[in-house]
Amino acid sequence: MKSQPDIVIIGSGMGGATIAAGLAGSGARIVILEKGEHLADTPKARDARAIFQRGHYRPKENWFSPDGSGFNPGNYYYVGGNSKFYGAVLFRYRKEDFAAMEFPGGGVSPAWPIAYDELEPWYGKAEALYRVRGALGGDPTEPPHSNPYPHPPVPDEPVIARVRERLQRVGLKPFSLPLGVDIETWLAHAKIPWDAFPNTAAGKMDAETCGLATALADPDITLETGAEVQRLETAAANRISGIVYRQNGAELTVSPKLTILSAGAVKSAGLLLASANDANPNGLANASDQVGRHFMNHNSSALLAIDPREPNDSVYQKTLGLNDFYLDDGRGGGPLGNIQLLGRVSGAILKANVKWAPEWALDLVSGRAVDWYLMSEDLPRPESRVSVRDGRIVLDWQRSNMIAHQRLTARAKEVFRAAGYPIVLSRLFDGRTPSHQCGTLRMGCDPATSALDTMCKSWDHPNLYVVDASFLPTSAAVNPALTVAAQALRTAHHIREKELAV
Ligand SMILES: Cc1cc2nc3c(=O)[nH]c(=O)nc-3n(C[C@H](O)[C@H](O)[C@H](O)COP(=O)(O)OP(=O)(O)OC[C@H]3O[C@@H](n4cnc5c(N)ncnc54)[C@H](O)[C@@H]3O)c2cc1C
Repeated sequence: MKSQPDIVIIGSGMGGATIAAGLAGSGARIVILEKGEHLADTPKARDARAIFQRGHYRPKENWFSPDGSGFNPGNYYYVGGNSKFYGAVLFRYRKEDFAAMEFPGGGVSPAWPIAYDELEPWYGKAEALYRVRGALGGDPTEPPHSNPYPHPPVPDEPVIARVRERLQRVGLKPFSLPLGVDIETWLAHAKIPWDAFPNTAAGKMDAETCGLATALADPDITLETGAEVQRLETAAANRISGIVYRQNGAELTVSPKLTILSAGAVKSAGLLLASANDANPNGLANASDQVGRHFMNHNSSALLAIDPREPNDSVYQKTLGLNDFYLDDGRGGGPLGNIQLLGRVSGAILKANVKWAPEWALDLVSGRAVDWYLMSEDLPRPESRVSVRDGRIVLDWQRSNMIAHQRLTARAKEVFRAAGYPIVLSRLFDGRTPSHQCGTLRMGCDPATSALDTMCKSWDHPNLYVVDASFLPTSAAVNPALTVAAQALRTAHHIREKELAV
């Protein structure tokens, strides 16, 4: 790198790309270092067997459980990060998610250090940047919006419109999911679902097609791909003095005035821990011993509601949500979680998890099934953590709040049976799928119990921000990406005012 940039952003996923968009036009010279490359548009991008059975896009790395067993995580390293594969459900956290919430079984989700109203304007800007499709008024838990959604909802396919009616008939309130998908563009490219499929064209609104595209329109912002950051270095006053990365086989160092770490909740924590030095023996940003702790990842299950009389011929399926049991179980019991459609599940996708069954038999099942995703809050606990041992990521995810998830699954089975699905099957997602990883550098008001302040600035290093899903103090029970994006825009505004204007 010829001259030193003002800012380096590490990672081009939801946090990194969105903060880059928020800093566009500021006059700062910004370099984004991204470990991955651009996703190529090949036939594999449309091939469910390649994606789900053969793990074509999964990383060639293992993470480890505390017992030493390795597993290949569903964590994606491409320009745009995990959002290239995401389901593009762009929910706001509910207003209630910012206050303490008690769950069946006694678990308590703590209050955020900021209120919903503080983030509300930034949610609106994030919805505009990610061109969210949605409709206000249908979701019984929708928090206040000062702006409507920028685009009308993605339409239900005919079979899903009938599912909506069935659910309404049993007293539920299905609503249109807020989605970052331009359905005409997506289907023009290929007649496949988008959930967990890579976005190689422009149909999905992801960190690359929205955040990064906005950022790179500024000639002062550049992207370096294949640039994997190895460690951060510190100097006087504990300032970050260098970012060491590998690119094309060479080890390089860059020394910006400001570093923004956005490598994702597991990798950001891992990088800071692996950067331990004499001044910071427990790792960077870690005087409080909070880095890597409070790892959360949602308790989630797949549920197939099967009606042998009703074939499901949908292509994408994923347009309905149910929050009837989000704030209580519908009978005066505690909060349980969110229910949303999965992307359409085919026999080829099912086969990845039910290896013993022939694909034709799974096609028969999936041809009559409507596929749902049940999601309950995972609570922040210090013993649930990411650590680094011999340079390797060790993930000790300790699930919490399973009573709420079991009750959500039971309630869902009950209402789907009432809605005319005689067979309802469910399966818990395991820990190798860290799709909603978060919380490993939580923000807070107290440097003793948080790694970042409420603007995502490190308490320990005056020129380090961490802007990705690590800052989330709670996981709530909705998908995280829009909240990451909203906070990224809020932090970008803060940096423009407080770091660049001086
Ligand atoms: C299959 C799937 C479906 C999902 N569906 C949804 C959904 O519908 N709605 C939703 O809200 N969320 C969804 N998510 C989650 C969502 O994608 C993440 O919450 C979001 O992308 C997190 O943003 P991030 O910035 O924390 O990390 P990421 O988006 O993962 O970005 C991290 C970036 O850092 C890069 N990086 C990592 N290490 C280094 C390094 N050492 N040097 C340089 N670069 C590095 C990575 O390559 C990556 O580009 C889904 C995730 C998956 C996997």
